[in-house]
Amino acid sequence: MTRSVSQVEQYEKCPHQYELQRLKRVKPRPAAWSHQGTAFHAAAEMYEEGGRKLTADQVTELFRDDYARLVNESLAEESNLDNWMTAGTDGQSDIEARYVLGMEQTRAYVQWAGEHEPAIWKDPAGKPGIETHLTADIGGVTVQGYVDQLVERPDGSVRVRDLKTGSTKSKFQLQTYGVLARKVLGVEVNDADWYMAKTGGLSRPVDLTSVTEADVADRFVKMDQGVKAGNFPARPGFHCRFCDVSHACSFRRG
Ligand code: SF4
Repeated sequence: MTRSVSQVEQYEKCPHQYELQRLKRVKPRPAAWSHQGTAFHAAAEMYEEGGRKLTADQVTELFRDDYARLVNESLAEESNLDNWMTAGTDGQSDIEARYVLGMEQTRAYVQWAGEHEPAIWKDPAGKPGIETHLTADIGGVTVQGYVDQLVERPDGSVRVRDLKTGSTKSKFQLQTYGVLARKVLGVEVNDADWYMAKTGGLSRPVDLTSVTEADVADRFVKMDQGVKAGNFPARPGFHCRFCDVSHACSFRRG
């Protein structure tokens, strides 16, 4: 059983949602914001892996193609746009608005990376720290994470960077990735930050110097034990509005 930050955060928010989505395999309702985030990440990843040689037009084309593919795949499975999740608007308008937004955010990322030229860390074999898959034992639980970027600092340490298209930020995610990077790669990690696509710049750095494996282990252990015990109570609340399996839940609120 490999655990992740998203599993922990979902289980803590609503164990029943975890059960419906991950164990009962309820088909989640599509959301254009999810495709926007996925396509943005894929475009930024290809731009960085290619050594920032692509033009902004080429990178936005990558976003456009991936976004269209993802939206079309979801439409093939759920053609009724009333069943898509949106933040208040109708499904069709949301798909169109997020296409425009994603194109702008992708172009802004290329501009920002070209101006600031963050130094991507490379492993001894020369592999760049882009979308790095890390797995390690934390508190007796196997934990994995995909780190968007590992950035080399002037003092030789490595900074964990997460790219965000939404506004929800998770310090726990950065802390876990910092611990994983130290354990798996043997690098010094003192801080982390987010690239915020909404603002086109970096957040303030999050200090990780005093964050240890023991600090993050507790939440993984509790979640792991809860799942193994079959403990999946519903915790309805405001977050039910953004629950993609709410159509299969009899406890939903709002
Ligand atoms: S609708 Fe609410 S209570 Fe039901 S699974 Fe989703 S988050 Fe949990």
